[in-house]
Amino acid sequence: MSFDCDLFVIGGGSGGVRAARIAAGHGARVQLAEEYRMGGTCVIRGCVPKKLMVFAAGHGAAMEEARAYGWEMGAPHFDWRAFRARLDAELSRLEGIYTRNAEAAGVILHNQRARLVDPHGVQLADGSEISARHVLIATGGRPSVPEGFDLPGVMTSNELFLLDDLPPSILIIGGGFIACEFACIMQGMGVAVTQFYRGAQILRGFDDDLRHHVAAAMAAQGIDLQVDTDLVSLEPLGGGRFAATDTRGARREFDAVLFATGRAPNTAGLGLEKAGVALSENGAVRVDEWSQTNVPSVFAVGDVTDRIQLTPVAIREGHAFADTVFGGRRGRADHELVASAVFTRPEAGSVGMTEEEARAQEAVEVYRTSFRPMQGAFADSDIKALMKLVVARDSRRVLGCHIVAPGAGEMIQLAAVALKMGATKEDFDATMAVHPTMAEELVLMRQPVPEN
Ligand code: NDP
Repeated sequence: MSFDCDLFVIGGGSGGVRAARIAAGHGARVQLAEEYRMGGTCVIRGCVPKKLMVFAAGHGAAMEEARAYGWEMGAPHFDWRAFRARLDAELSRLEGIYTRNAEAAGVILHNQRARLVDPHGVQLADGSEISARHVLIATGGRPSVPEGFDLPGVMTSNELFLLDDLPPSILIIGGGFIACEFACIMQGMGVAVTQFYRGAQILRGFDDDLRHHVAAAMAAQGIDLQVDTDLVSLEPLGGGRFAATDTRGARREFDAVLFATGRAPNTAGLGLEKAGVALSENGAVRVDEWSQTNVPSVFAVGDVTDRIQLTPVAIREGHAFADTVFGGRRGRADHELVASAVFTRPEAGSVGMTEEEARAQEAVEVYRTSFRPMQGAFADSDIKALMKLVVARDSRRVLGCHIVAPGAGEMIQLAAVALKMGATKEDFDATMAVHPTMAEELVLMRQPVPEN
């Protein structure tokens, strides 16, 4: 049977574009449909604009610190509109690069929605139909708002990047990556931030010491972080303002409300059920380790599969898929020891097991240090850094590394190489310190924390 193309990719985000380009490089005839903007969540309304906002927010604190280092300047003022204009221009530039790179690789792009009509058939929004030997679902995810709260005027991360003006105050619901990052960004930009988290401590899934350390740092910089607190009702007051009543019975008014309560796979209306593609309970596309669905011609990568919701993971999955199916090189994305960073202030970086996970597996030693980094201490900042290694007592392997510090995202990338290579505590100890840095503490922790 002849097909219009070898691969049709639905979704022009990190995973989809990587798969399309690599497949085209292997000689496949590739087409790709994107209904919004090329680059997907990461580039257009996720990692990239968020990180630029982290930089923007950080400059406020940096200027304060600069005074302690002898710099004299007037009262700083943050101009959101000026920043946003540059942000929009930068995102358009990156979107252009994504588009040009895909086209240069020979990928035919369709700027419209696509859906499956059968295991080899795709229909575009304009009604045209394209047959494909293989179809890749790379539609990512979307912010999910708890039932009953999806009111006009409430925001998710999608809307936050598009604000015309910063609100004087904001209520952020959630305690995960997005909630904590935006709490620090908004606070850094001068917005009064209140954050409700329904559980006992933010950043569930991370090491407990890291969670407590980040929470304390967030509270210390003025974020009104309320754990064990959830939203009961929201009363619209107009113009994006709301009165919020919480589970403690308090009622307070906010100029904006942001839900950062997780992301759901984007599978609705894609024709997946019609094509016989199996979904999991939360709507994610079910795939095997090769990113193949139960329908042999249909594959899926990235957030839509709800494995690990991180851009580099989607990219690896897309690359491995293209190599396997079109490059004659079977490859799998390795989901073990995936490091991640939360861009709070200070940042948190983590790779490997939490202390709790490691203890459940075997006897461990814990090495931990907390200190005021030199740069901040000079400026009388009380914000502390945390370094922690979780070590297997018998094999001596470092099972987990957890860092809270300025630049923790950069540090954890390198620690991840060591852990991936199976480094032992003695390998860390044998490594000469780089002085004076914060990261040197990782190779200078001599005594384990005494066991109770
Ligand atoms: P997360 O899963 O990280 O956090 C969701 C938060 O919302 C949790 O604290 C969760 O609480 C809470 N929550 C969920 N449902 C409800 C509810 N009905 N009512 C109240 N609270 C609720 O999702 P995010 O939206 O923050 O981010 C999505 C994913 O995107 C992340 O998992 C991450 O993989 C990725 N991401 C990565 C970033 C990075 O690498 N720096 C940055 C941003 C996102 P509970 O813990 O109790 O379930």
